[in-house]
Amino acid sequence: MSRDSFFRPHVDRMAGYVPGEQPRDTGVLKLNTNENPYPPSPRAFEAIAATLDDRLRRYPDPMGTAFRQAAARRHGVDPEMILAGNGSDDLLTIITRAFVGPGDLLVYPSPSYILYRTLAELQDARVAEVPFGSDWSLDPASFALPGTKLAFVANPNSPSGTTLTPEQVARLAERLDCPLVVDEAYADFASSDCVSLVASHPNVIVTRTFSKGYSLAGLRLGYLIARPELIAGLVKVKDSYNCDSLSLAGALAALEDRDYLAQTRGKILATRRRLTEAVRAFGYQVPESQANFVWCTGGPPAAEVYEALKAQKILVRLMRYPGHADGLRITVGTDAEIDRLLEALGPIVAASKFS
Ligand SMILES: *Cc1c(COP(=O)(O)O)cnc(C)c1O
Repeated sequence: MSRDSFFRPHVDRMAGYVPGEQPRDTGVLKLNTNENPYPPSPRAFEAIAATLDDRLRRYPDPMGTAFRQAAARRHGVDPEMILAGNGSDDLLTIITRAFVGPGDLLVYPSPSYILYRTLAELQDARVAEVPFGSDWSLDPASFALPGTKLAFVANPNSPSGTTLTPEQVARLAERLDCPLVVDEAYADFASSDCVSLVASHPNVIVTRTFSKGYSLAGLRLGYLIARPELIAGLVKVKDSYNCDSLSLAGALAALEDRDYLAQTRGKILATRRRLTEAVRAFGYQVPESQANFVWCTGGPPAAEVYEALKAQKILVRLMRYPGHADGLRITVGTDAEIDRLLEALGPIVAASKFS
């Protein structure tokens, strides 16, 4: 072999996205990747079971028509405005491949979802990371950089859990001469969303997932809402069969079980309140979260606390963003899980240099 690597140079240079730890040890309390602590809707199980027959012999519906119609009904839009994906990460990949080429500029705020950089790097694109203000706002004039080909905003944002209002997102969209993806992975826990902007702003694409609000991270299904012209172009980029029959059936049933979503959401919001107040009492600064996690900075040293919790089989996410102090992103679990976390945290914080 005469070459050092068979890969294209920009792929060689990339570090690759590192997902949160997914330990196989069942004794671990997992509060690190924002999974929902409650089981999925029983209707999702029934729908998947009802799909387990001879039809698995055949390819799935390439457009997931039945799912598409259900999502369209749910949001009051035309089915032509819905596109399903193998998780919302699949949709973010399709979007980036569709709009961004080598040397093009992709913009997103910082700190935010780390995958956006990876998607840009895969295209050999340039990135501009625009810092949030100290109150987690975003200045439209600094964000809408000339020549941008694609912009991402996670709303609610990860790791902060904060949101821009639909009016603020509209100001960003108006300034941009390219698609603006509003990544609403956590919208099921928020008090507002940006779906209505798709009608008023032709460059807005809203993405949703079943991984967080619907407790179906293992199933891999997401969807996006956008103008039909955008959907038609994105369809050319996606794999023909990017969603399997079981995921489409399970997600459709979960989507239609509105009462179940409201119940689990209500529990998570109540626990989020309690967790927020408890970690603040330990000395952390915690912005009001609109998601199913809280972002803790400025208190007892994050790396030390992360390790001490891990030693007790409690996994939270230690996040390190260049130019920012380390922080802990803690998923809202059940009340019993959060009790276990807080019981462990007490002595750890007391023993840390901080106190
Ligand atoms: C979890 C998450 C996603 C990915 O969702 P999947 O549907 O599981 O791929 C996308 N964006 C953000 C900000 C997330 O936190």
